[in-house]
Amino acid sequence: MPIQRLKGTQDILPETAEYWQDAEAIIRKTCREFGYEEIRTPIFELTELFVRGVGETTDIVNKEMYTFTDKGGNSLTLRPEGTASVCRAYVEDKLYGQVQQPVKLYYMGAMFRHEKPQAGRFRQFHQFGVEVLGADKPVVDAEVIHLAWEIYRRLGLTGLEVHLNSVGCPHCRALHKQKLQEFLAPRLGALCKDCQERFERNPLRILDCKQPSCREATADAPAITEYLCEDCRSHAERLQELLAAAGIPYSINPRLVRGLDYYRKTAFEIMVEEIGAQSAICGGGRYDGLVEEIGGPPTPAIGFAMGLERVLAALRVQEKLSPRADRPFAVVVTLGERATGLGFQTVSRLRQAGIPVSMDLLGRSLKSQLKAADRNQIRVALILGDEELDRGVMVVRDLILGEQSEVSQDEIVRLMEEQYGKYQKDVR
Ligand SMILES: [Zn+2]
Ligand SMILES: [Zn+2]
Repeated sequence: MPIQRLKGTQDILPETAEYWQDAEAIIRKTCREFGYEEIRTPIFELTELFVRGVGETTDIVNKEMYTFTDKGGNSLTLRPEGTASVCRAYVEDKLYGQVQQPVKLYYMGAMFRHEKPQAGRFRQFHQFGVEVLGADKPVVDAEVIHLAWEIYRRLGLTGLEVHLNSVGCPHCRALHKQKLQEFLAPRLGALCKDCQERFERNPLRILDCKQPSCREATADAPAITEYLCEDCRSHAERLQELLAAAGIPYSINPRLVRGLDYYRKTAFEIMVEEIGAQSAICGGGRYDGLVEEIGGPPTPAIGFAMGLERVLAALRVQEKLSPRADRPFAVVVTLGERATGLGFQTVSRLRQAGIPVSMDLLGRSLKSQLKAADRNQIRVALILGDEELDRGVMVVRDLILGEQSEVSQDEIVRLMEEQYGKYQKDVR
């Protein structure tokens, strides 16, 4: 039996890979324009990094990590997300000492989680994310949200809305936790098993449980926003003003919470309209306590991550994926073994001149070579048989207009440069 790929993985085939490349190019360009630089961290790290950086109470660490012992006896894990590795690099490579502050980074690459297989969920998936380290002002939060927003705008997605909340800080959260537990205690029986376990350690997470019974039981639960301290409150208000100034629509969602201690203040998601529903396409927030948690200096930080599979799926639903324009412009059609030699030489000269050109690699007939050219929307065919070979010419056929003429073999590169230059101007 032929070997098959693993459950939860996918082959991104050439046609789809083009869309990935286009989306990735827009993302990289937008990041650069915003002054964000790429960081590439290893695919695997010590397991402890994720236990501390993602949090040992999270589903990711408890249930979903690809963890293994290597030959040296170390416990290693395939990265399930990007933030912990970026923070480790920030500390280890002393990016906090760089002249340029804050440190504005982005990453893009494969992540691994052992999730239950279901539509649209992959065990190897791809994330793009951004982290800004060393800045605590609301304007940083606004810029990070604006970056995600601008990327979606350039990709062509519509129907977007930012959902915003503040999860406070350790000061204001303590009081809210107490009020929340008082509220939940008499309702414990109505909560799902997961939420009952969350009650002691992590009651905030109960607010974002998706189970209908939990949602009902927590409908009137005290919102963290009612308990924010002065600092957290003014941060949240200023951020809202800044988003409004940038024309980014947002709504406050008190159920948008983060369960771990190192999350502070801003939490956000960007929602996208799809058939009959709204779903999150980007999640992020401030994590001022994380760098310290993994052994670095106290560092305010904020970031977001988005799954590229989700982004591509949304673009597909909204019919915003368009085929690429940079297909081969010309094809060298050769008939017979003798012609193949000069044909190949012509192809090399044209490619050196920067003209996208292809040639038949299967020794097919004239008819099927021209058919293939048509299928690939190639503009010009340069036809070379024994007769043309002997007379030092080539037949140049415009496949769109159907016109053809003979051109000296010495003239072919110059002529193609001219025609390709004109074609490019027309396309633009
Ligand atoms: Zn606070
Ligand atoms: Zn629940």
